[in-house]
Amino acid sequence: MADIIPVKGLPFSAGFRWSVGFQMERFIKELAKKRILGSKCPNCGYTYVPPRSRCGKCYTKLGEENLTELSGKGDLVSYTVAHVELDGHGNFLDLGEPKVIGAIKLEGADSTIFMPIKEIDPKEVKEGMKVEVVWGEETKGELADMKYFKPGGR
Ligand SMILES: [Zn+2]
Repeated sequence: MADIIPVKGLPFSAGFRWSVGFQMERFIKELAKKRILGSKCPNCGYTYVPPRSRCGKCYTKLGEENLTELSGKGDLVSYTVAHVELDGHGNFLDLGEPKVIGAIKLEGADSTIFMPIKEIDPKEVKEGMKVEVVWGEETKGELADMKYFKPGGR
């Protein structure tokens, strides 16, 4: 436990970045079918997960026709091991077991999503590892349908 560095705030943002709109609605709905949607820019080819309404690289408008389905497999681009979490009132709670949050680039995607990495000892987690999604037993069309990622895939 000697290598734990105390921080005053979260050193990363765990969550999705999206622009609200039909894309996000579709993305969440399709999760019920265990499908992960992205948007592929027809101009520059950049692929976003979750899908969005405008390309952040070249500002091309993205629509229904630019939606693309991605596999639930990808590479762990980077990760962080959390030992505490916020309780919603600005206080840190000790997690007991460390939690790994990974930045994952799905196959065919250019943007990353942030998801918990489980089924692995946090000490064994490595950048560049292959990971795959673990779905909830009953998917309902909500973000929580993607429970976490685990090592594997391909
Ligand atoms: Zn573009």
